Amino acid sequence: MIIVLKKGTEQKDIDNLLKKVKSLGLKPMVSQGQERTIIGVIGPEDVIRFQPLEAYPGVDKVMPVLAPYKLVSREFKQQDSVVKVKDSLEFGSEKINIVAGPCSIETKAQLQEIAGKIKDSGASLIRGGAFKPRTSPYSFQGLGEEGLKILQDVSNQFGIAAVTEVMDTRDVELVARYADVLQIGARNMQNFNLLKEVGQTKKPIILKRGLSATVKELLMSAEYILSEGNFNVILCERGIRTFSEFTRNTLDISAVPVIKMCSHLPVIVDPSHAAGKWGLVNPLSKAAVAAGADGLLVEVHPNPKEALSDGPQQLLPENFAILMKELKQVAESVGREL
Ligand code: PEP
Ligand code: MN
Repeated sequence: MIIVLKKGTEQKDIDNLLKKVKSLGLKPMVSQGQERTIIGVIGPEDVIRFQPLEAYPGVDKVMPVLAPYKLVSREFKQQDSVVKVKDSLEFGSEKINIVAGPCSIETKAQLQEIAGKIKDSGASLIRGGAFKPRTSPYSFQGLGEEGLKILQDVSNQFGIAAVTEVMDTRDVELVARYADVLQIGARNMQNFNLLKEVGQTKKPIILKRGLSATVKELLMSAEYILSEGNFNVILCERGIRTFSEFTRNTLDISAVPVIKMCSHLPVIVDPSHAAGKWGLVNPLSKAAVAAGADGLLVEVHPNPKEALSDGPQQLLPENFAILMKELKQVAESVGREL
């Protein structure tokens, strides 16, 4: 349910309404738009249905949110949300942010080399996994806390924000101490306890679409995070399972405008895990930016042949530099900045 307020409603009337909603055992979430203020009411709708809320001063109308996701929906918030990282970066505004870096953090020297090169090419965030969700338990699982320390050191040294995955509720506090952005990987998109846990932090979250998840399921997962009070969610399309076998996954490019239609949250695209092949990363990145993505997440490695994970899809730094140069034109052609 959403309560739409009249323009210019006084704060004391808003406070009064919030008190009423809370007294019914429901959770109010305020969305302050340029045009109007909306109070989202979270909880069982039947509790509120017969309350005469329209009689309260300042209330314009009370409406059900038709989509199953509430706080995430365009109905709740019409303007695009901008998710800030470290106060200086914005996902969802005119500038497109590029997150680049290796699949896994392997050594400090490896990450330093990558950081210098991707920053020179124009990336604004560095990624690297310390906790890796591997299909086989015998594959490299990541360096754990040692990897997080490397990530933080390199992030500070080069002045570039750090993104890394958290896989376990028990590690959220630890990872949040070292990283600027927490990533929820595709395999954990429906790990609801993990979603609730990161929802209780204030950190920006990159939420990746599950391998076989619909857009609606992705948005429902985001709803878990927002409903805990963390509105700093960036959605990520990273390819889904289809019958097409040439690529690792199929990049669902239509997910970008579809999500933008249904939700106010920013959307980025990961062409690396979608393609599984480095040679496809350049054209897919351009397609993503042309379709309206607010950013990209691209795997880059100085020596992909020796990478401890995802070697075939990682770009050499020189190819990443070419991509960034070429992307500039695409971004400008759709009214964005790179
Ligand atoms: C990753 O980004 O390192 C990763 C494992 O991606 P995904 O969860 O999309 O497979
Ligand atoms: Mn990877």
